[in-house]
Amino acid sequence: MQTILDLNFEQMKDLMANFNEPSFRATQLFQGLHSGKTINEISNISKKLKDEILLNFDDFPAKIYKMLESKDGTRKYVFKFLDGNIVEGVLMKYKYGNTLCVSTQVGCRMNCFFCASSLNGLIRNLSAGEILSQVLLVNKDLGGNVKDRKITNIVLMGSGEPLDNYTSVVNFLKLISSEQSLNISMRNISLSTCGLVDKIDKLSRENLGITLTISLHAPNQQIREKIMPVAKTYKYDDLIKAVKRYFEKTGRRVVYEYALISGVNDSLKNAEELARSIKGDYSYHINLIPLNEVKERGLKTSKNAYQFMEKLNKLGVSATVRRTMGEDIEGACGQLRNKILKDEN
Ligand code: SAH
Repeated sequence: MQTILDLNFEQMKDLMANFNEPSFRATQLFQGLHSGKTINEISNISKKLKDEILLNFDDFPAKIYKMLESKDGTRKYVFKFLDGNIVEGVLMKYKYGNTLCVSTQVGCRMNCFFCASSLNGLIRNLSAGEILSQVLLVNKDLGGNVKDRKITNIVLMGSGEPLDNYTSVVNFLKLISSEQSLNISMRNISLSTCGLVDKIDKLSRENLGITLTISLHAPNQQIREKIMPVAKTYKYDDLIKAVKRYFEKTGRRVVYEYALISGVNDSLKNAEELARSIKGDYSYHINLIPLNEVKERGLKTSKNAYQFMEKLNKLGVSATVRRTMGEDIEGACGQLRNKILKDEN
């Protein structure tokens, strides 16, 4: 069944009208659910209405299954859905607010060689409500509710490829930014993609105002297709062109992610080539990430991060090294989920 959390406020109002309920019930229900409560935990609704709803919809779709807190305050959450599947989220605390990283799929089918998320392939897509539930649960865990927002920023950088689950992801973005929900500004939301060119163009037409982040990880087609199979379908130059179109259409600065892998993409020659490949008349920034080593993948992190950054900066390219957080709690995408799946089997 569909979870009740998939519904937007208008749909909730229509549902109440169908049940012959006054429209303020839609507000009560929506506020309860978006505070992270299950239907049964919402106290101002009758038992009869709750039963009617639960005959037609699944309840709030997830629970916090585990939480680990790192020495630096970063928290890793494991969420469990009604069908028993689990995904991870990471909460990062900054001076300006709290950023939550959420998952969009159980597993992933992109199979990037450095990433732990697709070690077991794609299990299934998450619905909009299931993506949303991760934010609402952590907001509640931090003592917040629908009117007291504890999460200020969201990044779609957990497991899964957001643009491979396009409709649910866009519906999620509309839900979380809606006035009746947490009302998180699209400007505070980043969507990270491995580069599905046609979907990047489609996204640019939605007029959402989110930040687009591209997992580039290579200075050219040859290296990219070695570490990211998706590059065989969507070529390097076509991706860069799509990124430029996205900027032209939205005016939003685009961010490139570049994980530095020893001996693969981290030489100074690679930095020069990268600068040449992405240059152009648009606004962008490069986040350099020392690879988070995933044992099963056998790749090593780079020791050249700062030299690589300086080289780019000298060539006039805006780039910074992202500090790593939560390394002591299996911080990289999919790492903790895999550990739990192994431990439980
Ligand atoms: N599928 C999306 C979002 C999920 S991954 C995407 O590809 O962008 C979020 C980011 O973490 C991506 O940039 C991804 O390439 C990167 N990443 C995955 N595994 C990593 C690792 N072991 N070390 C560093 N970054 C990693």
